[in-house]
Amino acid sequence: MNEGRFNLGLIGYPLTHSFSPQMHHAALRQLGLQGEYRLYPIPPLPEGTGQLEDLMAAMRAGKIDGLNVTIPHKRNVISYVDELALTARATGAVNVILRRGQRLVGENTDVAGFLADLQHHLPAGMESRLALVLGAGGAARAVAYGLLREGWQVIIAARRIDQAESLAADLQAQSVNESGKIEPMTLEGIQGKEFQRRLGEWDGEFMLVVNATPLGMAPDEGASPWPPGAAWPRYALAYDLVYNPAETAWMRAARAAGLRAVGGSGMLVEQAALAFELWTDLSASRQVMAMAVSQPIHPTS
Ligand code: NAP
Repeated sequence: MNEGRFNLGLIGYPLTHSFSPQMHHAALRQLGLQGEYRLYPIPPLPEGTGQLEDLMAAMRAGKIDGLNVTIPHKRNVISYVDELALTARATGAVNVILRRGQRLVGENTDVAGFLADLQHHLPAGMESRLALVLGAGGAARAVAYGLLREGWQVIIAARRIDQAESLAADLQAQSVNESGKIEPMTLEGIQGKEFQRRLGEWDGEFMLVVNATPLGMAPDEGASPWPPGAAWPRYALAYDLVYNPAETAWMRAARAAGLRAVGGSGMLVEQAALAFELWTDLSASRQVMAMAVSQPIHPTS
């Protein structure tokens, strides 16, 4: 903390779509804290290398107390921190940087943020723990790691099978949880017999389908990751990580097929609140942060 002020911010590019300033300013205000949450748009590397180095040096010098990190820098910042928390190491992605004494620590609150929100939406006493995750990028990695940790079996479906295979191999190698299991497939494969065969083999019903691709995000709101004509699981919760718009085309299609569907704003609030708590050691009101997102000052992503 600098003279009683919290200097917080977000590194990423582009950042015109961020809801984070609203959420963190609301949390600061609610606790009567002085401070600000600034946006630091840093272009992809190598162009942004100098800016990233300067910002990390400023944090090391105590001028910045906490940073969020988003696309495209979640992996880039790893070489600038002194240590990685377990979840950041396991997912290979940092979305929060905090200072502990002189040391910079890279954390990942997407995993706990997703799991915390998910538990509000799953039925109590659910038996099958089989999930389908669409996409194999950073968010899919956090989601799949969290689910494995909780003992779920996960199919990870991506348009590039090599990306799904490498994610599955990485997480499987970590033996996150003995009952957890992860298998790769292609997004196209959801339409085919192979998918049905796997379902039979795994002897389960999908209870969860997660969209971890950006498809459906504003401004391209008509896009959906679900392959045309593919059958929907009967009982699953459709969980879209996309949070702008609040209701995506994919969520509407899932509802039309009889599924329950939720969007990504709950996870957005949870991961932000967890970051805020790491920086301030104070507890953040999810309700206040959620209100800030539902009444955006800058209605963007
Ligand atoms: P990412 O690392 O870029 O990964 C995106 C994934 O989606 C990749 O597998 C990518 O495949 C795939 N994809 C992209 N365009 C596609 C297309 N047209 N068809 C099929 N697959 C496509 O991004 P991310 O960080 O994982 O973020 C994914 C989404 O989650 C974003 O919308 C982000 O805003 C959201 N998110 C939400 C929260 C939250 O708190 N609610 C947190 C984190 C992320 P390729 O590599 O082949 O392009």
